[in-house]
Amino acid sequence: MNAKQPIAAEADWEQAPSLLEASDEIELALDDCELEYWLKNVAQGSIVGTVHGRRADAVIPPMLREPGPLRDSRIEEAAFRALSEDAATRICALIAAAAPNVAGMEFFTTQALDEARHANSMRHHLLDLGVPAGELFETIERVAGPDRDRIIEPLWDWALPEVEDHAGDLLSLREAGHVERVYINGVVVITILLEGVLAPTTELAERKWKPISEASADVERGACVDEIRHLAVGSWIVREHVRTHDADEKERILALLEEGRAKWESVPVVDMLMTRERRFQEGIEEHRSAIGDGEIWPGRRLVDTTVEERVMKAATWSVEVQEQRMRYMGLG
Ligand code: FE
Ligand code: FE
Repeated sequence: MNAKQPIAAEADWEQAPSLLEASDEIELALDDCELEYWLKNVAQGSIVGTVHGRRADAVIPPMLREPGPLRDSRIEEAAFRALSEDAATRICALIAAAAPNVAGMEFFTTQALDEARHANSMRHHLLDLGVPAGELFETIERVAGPDRDRIIEPLWDWALPEVEDHAGDLLSLREAGHVERVYINGVVVITILLEGVLAPTTELAERKWKPISEASADVERGACVDEIRHLAVGSWIVREHVRTHDADEKERILALLEEGRAKWESVPVVDMLMTRERRFQEGIEEHRSAIGDGEIWPGRRLVDTTVEERVMKAATWSVEVQEQRMRYMGLG
């Protein structure tokens, strides 16, 4: 948007494909996405003209500022996203610290900043929705703290021990580059398990808010455009790692993924999505005429969709994106 110079299509708000198309079509090598790429295509490209992740003049409709289930569902969603993007920021910073080469260190530093931007735009979105600035953090804690405790925390506790074991190495400059296992495990966890599973819910959010609120669709769109790059480069790194290591290492990574998936299945993500979509459903029924004929996907009006339909769609996308990425990495 409003780019001052030509930028890569996959980083362009208008031209970038959807996350699902991108997962099939876009290949980005680590060396394609070093610091200069990010500065040109993101800092001086896709986000030029945005304020806290949305166009400066993007509209928040009155129906999202007055009390009711529609606003509540958006507040819960944005608050949970703020917390999960915070966690992603911290993981990416650890991966950057463990990177065995400059390209990896630079890329994950940019990804850490992207995730911090996503968290920041979600918090500011809550202010746009009329949450008083002085009550921001307590609101986030009240509406999303319980889901963080039952969803993000168990995943975090599972993913972290490996990193903690090597925390001393991470902090030793002379030993830098000696913690490749932390690095590759971190890349696997964030790319396949976190981005691969959560990104499709970001895509759903972009689509469902588009007919309702420009500002809400903007903050989701911005995150989706960044996820294209995160997914593509992360899976490129894992693919190269698998390609250049022996069969035992491939087995080890497959086992890690297996364990991670089992962990995912043990946390109540679907339960959270169902609760959120039920509230959203009440909201769209209340505001049917204001929402009008806006479509969630081609040929389907948002107001005609159901709770199950939307949750199923996000779940199907998650499986598709994961399977596509697994095949790409040679782990299919
Ligand atoms: Fe993110
Ligand atoms: Fe990301």
